[in-house]
Amino acid sequence: MPNLTDLKTVRALCERHGFSLSKGFGQNFIVNPGICPKMVEAAGIDSGFGVLEIGPGIGVLTKEAALRAAKVAAVEIDSRLLPLLGETLAEFDNIRIINADVLKLDLAALIREEFAGLQVAVVANLPYYITSPILMKLLEERLPVESITVMVQKEAAERICAQPGTRSAGAISLAVRYYAEPKILFTVSPGSFTPPPKVTSAVVQLIPRADSPVHPASEKRMFEVIRAAFGQRRKTAVNAISAGLGLPKPQLQQAVAALGLDERVRPEQLTLEQMAALSDLL
Ligand code: SAM
Repeated sequence: MPNLTDLKTVRALCERHGFSLSKGFGQNFIVNPGICPKMVEAAGIDSGFGVLEIGPGIGVLTKEAALRAAKVAAVEIDSRLLPLLGETLAEFDNIRIINADVLKLDLAALIREEFAGLQVAVVANLPYYITSPILMKLLEERLPVESITVMVQKEAAERICAQPGTRSAGAISLAVRYYAEPKILFTVSPGSFTPPPKVTSAVVQLIPRADSPVHPASEKRMFEVIRAAFGQRRKTAVNAISAGLGLPKPQLQQAVAALGLDERVRPEQLTLEQMAALSDLL
């Protein structure tokens, strides 16, 4: 089995296949041998699991998952990687590579078809340019998964895990909390990847909730309010939401007052409960 965390092996593999890494697809491959085992351990993967991986690259994390899980389905957008994966994962018979854009895929159907009778975990070193859309897709579709364990930029990890109502919270913090319980597992230095990204990374784990912590009359409306509130971060919540949703400012002022909040409240100061209550009033 080729050692996919050995830089020389990785370079030789890429050269043999005439493959050059694509920045556009966010290709930074893990070459620190400690990382992938730690990620799959943290996901608690064993022979009762099916693993959905997003962006296998040359298969370094795929292989670790396949050593423990019953089955791995890995979605890779870059068709140039298929021959490399064919070589690096040749000895496994429990891996299926799907050449597709994960954002356009029917993941519920994929899970149904691939993982019948298995518990499901998502693991990935995510392409950083689409971290939020991928996480939102995984959560909004309420896929039957036990956990989502993913590498993201450290700054994104902090925002994903920020408590709503605190300074570092953003729209993604509230959205994530609505669907899941997030935590940062560990940070990863740029030197753990080839090529090294400019920033530090972190592995986060999201455990989807059985029930959401708030129950707005309309989920869709609550997310519209959240998006509008954080759409213009330096504005007050009243100004941002009235501009974003095209509602008269007095209506927002009234709603905010009805919740006992100051008219100048900032979007990041609002908790999920307050966002839900606000959206019910609007
Ligand atoms: N898992 C490998 C590793 O850790 O070394 C590669 C991780 S690399 C950060 C991200 C991977 O996601 C790349 O292989 C890239 O081609 C793939 N990718 C980028 N956009 C994608 C998309 N929309 N759908 C599926 N895969 C995508």
